Amino acid sequence: MAESDVHPESFTAQGLGWVDETTRALVPSIPMSSTFLRDPDNGYSSGRIYMRDQNPAFEPAEALITKLEHGEQTLLFGSGMAAATAVFMALHPGDHVLAPKVMYWSLRNWLLNFATSWGLDVELIEMTDAAAVRSAIRPGSTKLVWVETPANPLWTTTDIAATAEIADEAGALLAVDSTTATPVLTQPLLLGADLVMHSATKYLNGHSDLTAGSLTTRADNDHWQRVRSVRAQGGATLGSVESWLLSRGMRTLFLRVRAASDSALRIAEHFDHDDRVAEVLYPGLPGFQGHEVAARQMQGGFGGMLSIRVAAGEAAAIGVAANTKLWKRATSLGGVESLIEHRASIEGAGTPVPLDLLRLSVGIENPADLIADLDQALNR
Ligand SMILES: *Cc1c(COP(=O)(O)O)cnc(C)c1O
Repeated sequence: MAESDVHPESFTAQGLGWVDETTRALVPSIPMSSTFLRDPDNGYSSGRIYMRDQNPAFEPAEALITKLEHGEQTLLFGSGMAAATAVFMALHPGDHVLAPKVMYWSLRNWLLNFATSWGLDVELIEMTDAAAVRSAIRPGSTKLVWVETPANPLWTTTDIAATAEIADEAGALLAVDSTTATPVLTQPLLLGADLVMHSATKYLNGHSDLTAGSLTTRADNDHWQRVRSVRAQGGATLGSVESWLLSRGMRTLFLRVRAASDSALRIAEHFDHDDRVAEVLYPGLPGFQGHEVAARQMQGGFGGMLSIRVAAGEAAAIGVAANTKLWKRATSLGGVESLIEHRASIEGAGTPVPLDLLRLSVGIENPADLIADLDQALNR
């Protein structure tokens, strides 16, 4: 069987067929050395000098993500935020960037507070509307368009291919936060994006036991060299143990994402016409914003994230989250255990999130149990 015939599920399960050359081990060891021996002539024939940027522990996960995303190179970071902010820090003061109004809250805050004071010209727009993107973009001065799809926590979908075309024409890079879609369901680089970011804390690792981030580029260009230096010199790096756990977690990526995705659709359909629920927000529901785009750009499912708006309002929504037993009341997403969160409480003043909204991260438990638990909590 030619290597190119092997499906992503297969090479992911085997960690790209990694074997230790000397010990014949099928699982990497955890390298703990911060430094590497110099040659007698003071050179470094190993190619490695120092752990901050050249930790061998990064390599299995970086190589696997690069292959899954059809990219040129991947860099791991100490968190999703470290990866995302590296993309913006690699720009220059005065550069104009477009980002969505609805997006991951911490990054939105960082863009509005930190990046703006540092000199980036940040404009938040209705990213799901191609006409709005087209009219906001300034050819020559817009250097980056940031897309998140499906976007936290309303799960609105942005057409990556259409946005890539607009960015490309204007000479801007398109970066996609693909954390909730995962490479199982969407490959943004194949749709024309230049960069893909993941909070590997979430589905890539999948077990809620570390923070990590990744960036994958389509091309090794000037911007990417600056991203590299944010990690290498700025030191936004991941530890060896976390890198190893991430590689281990990724071996089951396809099983986990497909199970979560199938269950999320079942849960969304179950509560879609329930009087206790004002609205179910899920890209897999026909009629939901961007469903057609999602059906085109996501393969094999619509992801494990959905939100519900509780008909009786904010206090009732908080009450539902207080009364679930199987769903754990916690932030974050993409783990094997299901989580429920009253999102507006976390985001605080200025949040665009409806006050009656509960964000659900579906895990790999039996979906009937998850439905029954939500049902009893809604009844209280
Ligand atoms: C969690 C998350 C991030 C930030 O990642 P961390 O690993 O928590 O730093 C960014 N984008 C999305 C969509 C996320 O869910």
